[in-house]
Amino acid sequence: MPAKSKRKISRRAALQGIGSVGASVLALGAAESPATAAEVSRSQTPPRPADGRERLEQAVFTTPLVDTHEHLIEEHERLQSPAHPRVPCDDWAMLFSHYLNSDLLVAGMSKADHDRFLSPQVEPVDKWKLLAPHWPAVKQTGYAQAVRLAIRELYGVTELSSATVRAVQTGYEQTRRKGYYARVLQEVGRIESCQVNCLTGEPFKESAQPTLLMQDLSIVGMFAGPEINTYAKPAGIQVKSLADWHRVIGWWFDRYARFAVAVKSQNAYRRDIDYARVPAEQAEPVFSKVLQKDTVTAEERKRLEDHLFWYAVDQATAHRLPVKLHTGYYAGQNYMPLARLRNNAGSAAELCRLGPDARFVFMHICYPYYEELLAVAKHFGNAYVDLCWAWIINPSAAKDYFKKHLLTAPANKLFPFGGDYIPVEPVVGHALMARRGMAQALWELVDEGWLSLDEAIELVPPILHGNARQLFQLEQKTRALQQADWVR
Ligand SMILES: [Zn+2]
Repeated sequence: MPAKSKRKISRRAALQGIGSVGASVLALGAAESPATAAEVSRSQTPPRPADGRERLEQAVFTTPLVDTHEHLIEEHERLQSPAHPRVPCDDWAMLFSHYLNSDLLVAGMSKADHDRFLSPQVEPVDKWKLLAPHWPAVKQTGYAQAVRLAIRELYGVTELSSATVRAVQTGYEQTRRKGYYARVLQEVGRIESCQVNCLTGEPFKESAQPTLLMQDLSIVGMFAGPEINTYAKPAGIQVKSLADWHRVIGWWFDRYARFAVAVKSQNAYRRDIDYARVPAEQAEPVFSKVLQKDTVTAEERKRLEDHLFWYAVDQATAHRLPVKLHTGYYAGQNYMPLARLRNNAGSAAELCRLGPDARFVFMHICYPYYEELLAVAKHFGNAYVDLCWAWIINPSAAKDYFKKHLLTAPANKLFPFGGDYIPVEPVVGHALMARRGMAQALWELVDEGWLSLDEAIELVPPILHGNARQLFQLEQKTRALQQADWVR
């Protein structure tokens, strides 16, 4: 590109980016290429092509999305329901079982009605009567919007009611068939791959669809508890000392690190993420007590957990696995210790300082303390933020975070979507909400003069899939998973 036109573009970009301040900056280069009054005036309102919003939406809604957090059970496990513990009922109410049932309980549905609503013994069509009294109070929440969008996209029913409940149930039955995970996620949701944190007990799930349902290696039982049998048995190691337990942890990384996309801990449901670096000598006596089933004090337990947390994180880092940590809001209802969660973002900053080589992915934008977490992402090179779950907890706050992140912290520190679901169907609704929120946020940034339309559109591929492909090494993982011994 000739030097002259290059200069012209960069000046225009500066104008669009900084508005009226741009006029004085521009004056510095005036001798070489004077700005016309029209150019300066345009700097107040950047050019917005008439079809700009449509072009931006087109980009956001058609670009493949990497889904960085789910709890999806295997498709074949879902199809064998309701024998599966994570499938309370095998009808349309299953879509409400995670997380919309919490809004229903908080809105006033009785526990007895809730249990009947999710029971496999109640006729699916009769369940509408249990839902109807509470539906007007919850139908506009993020949890409900994701389910309503899924019902619309998958079953073609625009409004759930007494008149349509039968069509919703028929849609449920016709959708839930062999091969439907790929159809729902990839064809309808335009999701290229998911990252699953398995909730069925195994630290790493050997998925039958390993490149679609990529997996995190769970480290929580390596340090909390710790869950000796769960981890030691598959490793074939008898645990009689802390050194033995270190070998067990090492076995899991040796066996699964090349297949896992990350390690994951949701230990923030039990305590703050204020893990101190504790040397093995100080943890060893506590570990012996745990092995002998002696009582340990809260202070002793923290010491052991802290030591083991860093042991696992250092292993993850040596194997180039990012560390995903739950932060902020709790699933469920009527028990969240919000005062403690307030400390999560501050503790996250301390983790980044104590583990400069680790890459931490702080999940759920630490809702509602997302402004604090944004400061962590801006300040620390090893802090990343994942909007997983956030678009359905509070769609407006998630959009606010997304917009603020782009103006505050580098765009490569952001993962925009994880459905965070056990049932696969609502992922479609959640993904649509995320795309809608991202398109709105980007358009607002253009409309307010912070970004040009081209700059906004250029951000779409890296944010929707580029960041995840890179940090989680998805190409390399895909190749390893295609060769995995449990699928060959
Ligand atoms: Zn989750």
